[in-house]
Amino acid sequence: MDRAVYSEPRPCGCCFIIPTHMLERLSTSGNRDMAATAARTLRINNSLQAFRAQLNTGAPPPATPVRPGLRRQAFNCNGTEDMPGDLARSENDPPAADAAVNQAFDNAGTSWNFYKQIFGRESVDDHGRTLVSSVHYSQGYDNAFWNGQQMVYGDGDGQIFQNFTGSLDVIAHELTHGVTQFTAQLPYHDQSGALNESMSDVFGSMVKQWANGQTVDQADWLIGANIFTADFKGHALRDMANPGTAYDDPMLGKDQQPGHMKDYVQTQDDNGGVHINSGIPNKAFVIAAKAIGGRSWEVIGKVWYVTLTERLTSSADFEKCARETISVARDLYPSDPSIAARIAQAWIDVGVLAAGDAMVASLATGAAAAPAVTAAAPALAGTASPAKASGPKTPAPAKAKKRVAHHRVKPQPPNQPPQ
Ligand SMILES: [Zn+2]
Repeated sequence: MDRAVYSEPRPCGCCFIIPTHMLERLSTSGNRDMAATAARTLRINNSLQAFRAQLNTGAPPPATPVRPGLRRQAFNCNGTEDMPGDLARSENDPPAADAAVNQAFDNAGTSWNFYKQIFGRESVDDHGRTLVSSVHYSQGYDNAFWNGQQMVYGDGDGQIFQNFTGSLDVIAHELTHGVTQFTAQLPYHDQSGALNESMSDVFGSMVKQWANGQTVDQADWLIGANIFTADFKGHALRDMANPGTAYDDPMLGKDQQPGHMKDYVQTQDDNGGVHINSGIPNKAFVIAAKAIGGRSWEVIGKVWYVTLTERLTSSADFEKCARETISVARDLYPSDPSIAARIAQAWIDVGVLAAGDAMVASLATGAAAAPAVTAAAPALAGTASPAKASGPKTPAPAKAKKRVAHHRVKPQPPNQPPQ
């Protein structure tokens, strides 16, 4: 079989949690130490992008056997740029002496367990790939990233950014780039890139909510709330519920994320604004999640997961994603059309779909709703959270019968509203 079939198209270079435009702002902030650190981080990022382009990182051939079970390795770069570094902890090892090693290791495990228990997924590639993390990368390095093969974490400059390994949503965000790489392969530029970023934020936040046993109303919907020092003027890297309000800092500038298509940012920076315009699909997800209620991974998370792993392809834009989430909601919940309707309304609220859209209108009249073939919606693979004792009770979902990963839905032809 031709390897090229599995290696093209490449979804992204390196998927960094801190976007280039923020580092460029820091590099011209006037603070000499910060400027030097940010400039060095940018130089390293550029060389990593060039190296990443040489890697074969497509989906595994279908014949590759699945290796069930969690496998992790954490390496210590000890302040160098040699990757992966020295092996510091493997699966079944006791905790290491280094806190960052254990944080990266433990948070990767929580993310793996979320995907396994909720969606039946075997690691990022669904074939049991070992989760590899490297910590203490470079000196004062202001970033964390997925390089197509593993996760890498710097220690931050100590003035704006502190370490990145203590943030579960950041680690789950990076791991989700791996899931996207092995499924939808969303190209890392413009709207497809913003969708790539949004999927990482959506599942990053979902993993944190699952670990904390939070409902959609208890969730903070913040990404990277604990990667900053006390001097930072803001509350997070991104605010999914209120895009554009995460920070207003004299050195980093102001959060540029829009929450509506009328404010879509046309830019050459940030690969066409992948970390900026992701605010629009992020907000649509939060609006829909709150309208549906309960816990995000129980209903809407399943819709987004099937959309990402079975419906979207490298040509997807915001509108395609909107239509597929509505279509998936109809397929997964034929007896409850309100779920598809609430998702449609969320996409209208952020300006991706128009209120007069034919697909949306059919939801209102029920004309295109699929006939109810089962009394209950398909069940999730797992619904409990590790911290389910905390937080209020939500309606109990139907008992698990099948894994989401096995609930295949037929892909729709591109550019056609699903029937
Ligand atoms: Zn990212």
